Formats: sequence, C-alpha cells, structure tokens
Amino acid sequence: MKLTANDIDASSWLVSAARPTEAGQALNTPLTPASNFVIGQPGREYARDDGTPTWESLEVLLGGLEKAHAVAFSSGMAAIAAVFDQLDTGSVIALPDDYYQGVVGLATAGEQRGRWRIERIAVADTASWVRACGTSDLIWLESPSNPLLTVIDLEEVCKTARKAGSIVAVDNTFATPINQRPLDFGATVALQSVTKFVGGHSDLLSGVAVTRDERLLHALRKSRELTGATPGTLECFLAVRGARTMSLRIERAQQTAQVLAERLATHPSVSVIRYPGLASHLTHAVARRVLNGFGSVMSFDLRGDAAYADRVCQATRLIHHATSLGAVESTMERRAAIPGQEHLPPTLLRLSVGIESVEDLWRDLEQAFIAAKV
Ligand SMILES: *Cc1c(COP(=O)(O)O)cnc(C)c1O
Repeated sequence: MKLTANDIDASSWLVSAARPTEAGQALNTPLTPASNFVIGQPGREYARDDGTPTWESLEVLLGGLEKAHAVAFSSGMAAIAAVFDQLDTGSVIALPDDYYQGVVGLATAGEQRGRWRIERIAVADTASWVRACGTSDLIWLESPSNPLLTVIDLEEVCKTARKAGSIVAVDNTFATPINQRPLDFGATVALQSVTKFVGGHSDLLSGVAVTRDERLLHALRKSRELTGATPGTLECFLAVRGARTMSLRIERAQQTAQVLAERLATHPSVSVIRYPGLASHLTHAVARRVLNGFGSVMSFDLRGDAAYADRVCQATRLIHHATSLGAVESTMERRAAIPGQEHLPPTLLRLSVGIESVEDLWRDLEQAFIAAKV
C-alpha cells in the first residue's frame, strides 16, 4: 500500500512522494512539454484546462505534504491573485500592516477600483485580528511578516475565524509547511511562493494555493483555467527537484541563521536585529508556539546612514547583493531602497541565509561592516 504524509515525516514525504511506480519508468516524473493530448480516457485534452503530468507531480507533492490539495500557478502572485479573485464586489479584507509588497499593490489597486475595502491591522495585535474575524470576508495573514519578521498567533486567529465563518488565507512563504501548518490551525487556504524555499535555487517562478475546502479548490482551478495563470512545465520539474531537499536546506539554513542572529545582536555595527528565534524578539513567545523552526530570514538595522548600508551590501564577497529569499545561496539587500518600501528604517538590511558555512558567512559580514567604513 502507498504511504501517505500521515505515515511519514515531512522530510521523507518530500523525498519519496510523487514518483512514478510502474516497472521500467524513470524514478522522476518526466518533463512533459504539452499543450494538448489525444482525446479519450483518462480525459486530459488541453493543458490550460486539464493540467500536465509534470504540474500534477508538484501538486501531489505539495498538496500531500499538508494533507490537502494544491493548485499550482505561474507564480506566488498568480496564486494570491486567484484567492483575491474569489471575493464579491464590496467585500472587506483584513490586511496586516507589514506584508509582501506585491500583495500591497494588488490589494490597493483593487480598493482604488472599488472592488473591496481594506482594514489594516498591526501584525502582532492578536485582539484586533480576532475582532476582525466577525466583520471581514477575507482575513489575509502573512507570518512571519516581511521584512519585520513579526509572527502572528495563527492558532488563535484561525480558531476565532473558523467560528465566525470568515475565510482565512495565510501567505506561508517565509515559514513553509516545514515550519508552520496554517491548515492544521484551521486556515482555509495556505499560499506559497514556490519561487522561494520550495524551488530553493533562484531559478524559477511558481506558486501554489493549498486547501482542504473542495469548493475553493474547484474555484481556484477554474480561476487558473480562465486567467491562464498556469505554471510552466520546466518550472514545475525544477520545483519538484528543489522540494526534494527543502527540509534539509531549511534545517541547515535556520541553524546558521540562529547563530548569525545571536552574534549580530551584540555586534557594535548593528542597532536592531529582528529574528523570531531570539528571546529579545517582539513575538518570540508566539513563534515558539506556532512555528516548528524560526526560519532563515532576518532583518537588522545598521548604525550609520543609508549610504553605509548600501556599501555593506556591495562589500560582501560571499553573500549576494540581490533580492528574494529562500535559496541555497545567501542574499542581502537594503529594503528601504525599494520603491514603496521607503517607510522602513533606512539602514534595514534583509538577510536570507543560505546553506554556506556559518563561519564563512560570519567572516563575510564582519569584513563587509569594516570595508564599508570610509
Ligand atoms: C516572493 C513572495 C511572494 C510572491 O511570489 P512570486 O513567486 O514572486 O510571485 C508572495 N509572498 C511572499 C511573502 C513572498 O516572499
């Protein structure tokens, strides 16, 4: 009998699931570039409507991991837009005050066109989230948040939302299903930018929506079919390959992140450090309860000005000066330099820790702090 994700650990599931099992077949689902199929049973005709075996392998892997169903999209934003697409005109959305800038853009544009109304809630203000459950059609949560790494008490908010009948969507990109299981807390849908930790190699764009709600599952598939936000075949193949090692990569990267965060916390060049794994973090207690691990993304403010922070980013030799996160290679950038992010502290650097050696990364940061001084 086939093993399910109930029988084995997430790491074993990611390595073993979604592989062909018939004699003579390759151990990996092949890349099947296809727009159309021969008509007949099992009834796959056109790829935009019916999918391809390659996308399905990614959906089986990531859906099964959360004991749910996954719908794969062309990007994380495409998956998120498909959820927003479910709202009736005039809906109320509760949104955090620190969240992914793409979603900020999507939500704001929809509000300006009169499609919905937005209510903003401070990420760590659990009482306000609980209150919003009765009055919002969609509760949109992102935790840990980007780039302040604030952790929401998902357990508490989901429990209340469920009683109130609100839809709860959780952008789980930073935590991944390895570190946080929104659906187990009662969320309606969990979103993942596959581009980040699942792919893990900075070489693809993809996203998934994962749900146990049959009605929403069909609606999301329909939305993908009608908007054409379909995932690429090569991207799905690469995402499955990346996902095989996700648990191992995250384990290593978050071990390293904890060490770096602890050292940065006492470094004279750093004024503020935000990492949920530090006891000093605003939401450390909540993080200990809802997360299985603290992840590998942190942000810290440098003493000095924006120009100094820019020079630090340029002075690293191992850490790449690049946006995005969740890859094998460490990346760092100054977030306030990004249009729309000017409200952030000017010297805030977001560091996504990769799987390099912890001592090499530490030496790189230390030398960059010194080299950037003029
Ligand atoms: C990157 C990211 C997204 C968007 O994903 P894309 O694959 O770039 O479309 C959404 N949410 C968070 C938290 C992200 O980091």
